Amino acid sequence: MTANGQPADIVGRGIRDGAALFRRRFADLTEAAERGQPTAYVFVMGSLAEILRCFDFELVFPEITSLQTAVRGVAHEYLDQAEDYGYSPDICGYVKADVALQLRGGAHPMGRIPKPTLAVLTNACNTYIKWSEIWERLYRIPVFTLDVPGTREAGRRTWPGDPDFEADKRYVASQIEELIALCEAVTGRRFDVDRLREVMDHTNALSRAWRRIIDLNKSVPAPFNALTDGTVYLGVVNAFRGTPEGRAYFDDLVEEMEHKAARGIGAQADEAFRLMFLGIPCYPIFRRFNELFTGRGGSFVNSTYLWFAAGGANLGFQYDLDRPLDSLAEGVLISVRDAMDSMFFQVQDLMDQAEPYGVDGIVFHAIKSCRTVSTGLADTRRALMAARDIPTLFIESDMMDRRVVSEAQLKNRIDAFFENLATRRKLAPA
Ligand code: SF4
Repeated sequence: MTANGQPADIVGRGIRDGAALFRRRFADLTEAAERGQPTAYVFVMGSLAEILRCFDFELVFPEITSLQTAVRGVAHEYLDQAEDYGYSPDICGYVKADVALQLRGGAHPMGRIPKPTLAVLTNACNTYIKWSEIWERLYRIPVFTLDVPGTREAGRRTWPGDPDFEADKRYVASQIEELIALCEAVTGRRFDVDRLREVMDHTNALSRAWRRIIDLNKSVPAPFNALTDGTVYLGVVNAFRGTPEGRAYFDDLVEEMEHKAARGIGAQADEAFRLMFLGIPCYPIFRRFNELFTGRGGSFVNSTYLWFAAGGANLGFQYDLDRPLDSLAEGVLISVRDAMDSMFFQVQDLMDQAEPYGVDGIVFHAIKSCRTVSTGLADTRRALMAARDIPTLFIESDMMDRRVVSEAQLKNRIDAFFENLATRRKLAPA
């Protein structure tokens, strides 16, 4: 303990504990596979964990299990197998890694993934819909799609009280009722609204903390690297949503980040340029990709990935436990809509965030196999550059497929970007 009662090893605790939680999670999944426990396959943008946890489903996030194959350097083996089986090189790499995983009976570098009993998805990515049809065909399981109305036009979100919002909320609420009926039919158990309140209370604490942590990175230097550390925290946001473990982890993480911010402890000692990241990281060379920036003094202070891939939890939406089902519909609508907006209508948010985060430059990372996130990036960049004088970098690689990752080409572009940042700073009026 330090003099003010905080643990001496507080710095770096979030990474250590996050890794330990994930090792345990995969061990639990391996046991669940052996026991044949009811398992729901869900996605990060709208997992509906609050409902599914009421029925004690094991939750599998195929996006996370797939990206782990890339981080562990074996994604190409899975991609090759799925392509040999007939899937095109062009489609989402997460899907192909998962197809190979299913063909291998769930064998994953971190354990064994159980087969699905049910799949639950939203319309936040159109790939979700085609992806879950694969499980439907393989396992003849029910697939539930929750259709979340998105923002109709940039800058025109509606809020509670607005007739359009209320109509959208009723539409989401009626689908949640259908999901509850389906879970009851699949598990043979009755829905318990008090259990829902308990789970929602844990989610409230986790969402509050996630928002606070992202906010704390406005500190100079930034307490955490939004690209690398942020990905670990993001994994916990999704996989432990609605659980006491997730809540305890995020209480500790807030303590760690507040400790670092108060003492000027940055993720990077030599923070020279503060960067915003758009897109999904390059997992096949994750550490080296990050070093191409940090090696030049670049520090990632925020990222749209921390918004959309958290299903909009960055908003810190708080459920009202006195009206759980109505509030769940409201929260799902607002949060999943925000996740979609973080991919499709980013320009205003980027402009709003640039100043508070002291952003020196914005990195757009388009990836070959994710059209949902990448398609509009070039247009977003153009619109942003027309509205603001802010340096941007546009690079391309992939989040899974090392065949389309050219480290030398990335390095050239990134080095030129940093030269530009340094020149601008030299020429800036004192
Ligand atoms: S958002 Fe991109 S990476 Fe995620 S499932 Fe959709 S296509 Fe794949």
